[in-house]
Formats: sequence, structure tokens, C-alpha cells
Amino acid sequence: MSKIMAVANQKGGVGKTTTSVNLGAGLASLGKRVLLVDIDPQGNTTSGVGINKADVANCIYDVIINEVHPQEAIVETQIEGLHIIPATIQLAGAEIELVSTISREVRLKKSLAMVKKNYDYILIDCPPSLGMLTINSLTASDSVIIPIQCEYYALEGLSQLLNTVRLVQKHLNTSLQIEGVLLTMFDARTNLGIQVIEEVKKYFQQKVYQTIIPRNVRLSEAPSHGQSIITYDPRSRGAEVYLELAKEVISYE
Ligand code: ADP
Ligand code: MG
Repeated sequence: MSKIMAVANQKGGVGKTTTSVNLGAGLASLGKRVLLVDIDPQGNTTSGVGINKADVANCIYDVIINEVHPQEAIVETQIEGLHIIPATIQLAGAEIELVSTISREVRLKKSLAMVKKNYDYILIDCPPSLGMLTINSLTASDSVIIPIQCEYYALEGLSQLLNTVRLVQKHLNTSLQIEGVLLTMFDARTNLGIQVIEEVKKYFQQKVYQTIIPRNVRLSEAPSHGQSIITYDPRSRGAEVYLELAKEVISYE
């Protein structure tokens, strides 16, 4: 069985990229075949797994706009079983170009269908917006993982995201599910974090992952070394929790 999951939240800085990279690395280290799809023009997932953007021959832009076969864009990472379709800044133009493109919402879905069977999990790291790239991601996915930062206004903006999910379910992808809500950057020293957890659990109930991602400085250091936390510091709390999350994700198969 293979599953495509979008990691989405139109808020920036909530942990989408950190989760894509490290959940992907965690799943791969547990023996799963994983494809990361970087669909954020910032390309942080791409550099986060050690890919030099200057060396990228074909990026996700070529796949969705120029209809390059996805296999021609897939590159391997340092972690066995973890592959990626990279993003470069070229993707910044896609949001506008897609608007006037035939079958604009289903381009990514059609492309990923060609390689889906080669992977157990495909994780799509979405940009911080609800534009065509995120719509393509949700249309291509079986489910969506929503990271929520344990901060003030944690739930703010979520109704727009859920509305977009409902619109995609209605018009483009009837089988799209909410895979799980992930609480990130939890700080046990503040009451605020605990309040946010309660609030989010009240709202999303059993959809909230039991694994909660704490603030961990090693997690914020790893990307500048082009590594996932699993390889950068396997003994860190960050590595432990993302492995826990990977196991939890697998347990819902
Ligand atoms: P997004 O992709 O949603 O914009 P990121 O994953 O890039 O969010 O995270 C935003 C910033 O916070 C990054 O600098 C990242 O390294 C840092 N970060 C994310 N998760 C954690 C964490 N659990 N602990 C510490 N820093 C984190
Ligand atoms: Mg990001």
C-alpha cells in the first residue's frame, strides 16, 4: 500500500518543512520507501536533505509545468530509502502560470500517479499559502497532516485551511482525509503550550497525534548542515520524537 500525504498549513513557520524532512527520514530509517516532494518555492526541504539547488537538473516545476516525467526529477538523499523531487526558485512562477494551464488542479496528482507504486509514503511539503500549489498538493493526496505551532493564536487561520480542504473534497478529491494534527514547538516550561494543546484537542479530538514535538535546538540546527535530525544528532530529543511520530504514522496504516 502506498500513501500520499500533504503537510499543509498556510501559516509560515509552524513546522511543515521540519516535519516533512524528519518524518520522511524517520519513516525511511524504519525501512519504508519514502519520496519527499518539495513544492515550496523556498526549497527548504530540498536544502534540508543536503541537495545543492545549483545541481538540480529537473525540479518539481519541470514536472508540473513542463510535464517532465517525475522519475527524471527524483534524486536520492544520503539516507537510504529517502528520495526527493526538489524545488528551486523557478517554482515561484508556477503559482501564476498554473492559473491559465489546462487541468491546472490535477497536474501533480497525474505526475505522482506515475511513481506512486515505488513508494510506501510520499510526503508533500506545501508552501505557506492556499494557492494553486497547495490545491495541487491536496488534490494529489490521500490525506493531509496539519502542523500547529503551540503558540498564541494557534487556531487562527485554521478555518480557512479546513475550508480549502472541504472545497477540494467536494470538487477535486472526494477521498481526501485529515491524517492527523501535529502539535509542534511545544515548550513544557510555559502554561501557554499546555493551554494550546487542550484547545487543539478540543477542536480536533482524536485526530491529534499523541506524539507532540517539543522545541529542540538540534532540530533548528540540522537544516544548515543539510541533514535530517536522524543523521545530524540521532540521540537528540528531536530525533527521538520524530521517530516516535513515524511509528505512530505507521500504526495508522
Ligand atoms: P514551515 O515549513 O511551516 O515554514 P519550518 O519547519 O521551516 O516551518 O520551521 C520554522 C523554523 O522553526 C525553522 O527555522 C525551524 O528550524 C524551526 N523549528 C521547527 N520546528 C522546531 C522545533 N521543534 N524546535 C526548534 N525549532 C524548530
Ligand atoms: Mg517550509
